[in-house]
Amino acid sequence: MDERAATKIRVGIGHDTHRLAPGGPLRLGGVSIPHDKQAVGHSDADVLLHAITDALLGAAALGDIGEMFPDSDEANRGRDSGEMLQKAHERLVAANFKIVNLDCIVFAEQPKLGRFKNAIRLQVAELLDLPADCVSLKAKTGEGVDAIGRCEAIAAQCVVLLSRSMMEIEVE
Ligand code: MG
Repeated sequence: MDERAATKIRVGIGHDTHRLAPGGPLRLGGVSIPHDKQAVGHSDADVLLHAITDALLGAAALGDIGEMFPDSDEANRGRDSGEMLQKAHERLVAANFKIVNLDCIVFAEQPKLGRFKNAIRLQVAELLDLPADCVSLKAKTGEGVDAIGRCEAIAAQCVVLLSRSMMEIEVE
C-alpha cells in the first residue's frame, strides 16, 4: 500500500453559501431558528450541514455533496440535509474512517446566533453520533459588508479531522 494512503489521520474542509429570501424559519445545523428570512436552495438549504457534509467527503477523498446528491435529481428537492449528512457519514464509516472533531463557522448578519449555538452543536453531534465536545461552532457577522452583511446570503465553513483504523486498512 502507498504510504500516504495508509496515513492514519485526514483533514477536510467544506464551504457553502445560500441566498436568503423572505420567509422563515432559518434552517441551520438541523435546527429551525425563528427568523423572517430563510435560505433558498434545491434541498432544505441548510448551509451548515452542507459545509459539514463536504468537509467529511473531502477528508475521505469521496467526492462532494453535489456529486452525491445532484440538484438535477428531483429526489433531492427539499431533501432533509440531516439525512444527506448521515448518508455521507455512512460512506466514511464503511471506509473505516471515524470523526475526531469538527470546527465550524457560520457567517450571518442576522439573526444573532449566540443563543442558538449550543442547540445547533448538540444537533450536529447527534446526527453524527459524536460527543458534543467534538463539535465546535462559531458565529460571525458580515460587519455590514457584501452579500452576507446586507442579509442577502448566509455562508458556513467546516474543518474536520478524521482518523482511520490501520488494522482494518491492512486487511483490505
Ligand atoms: Mg448548499
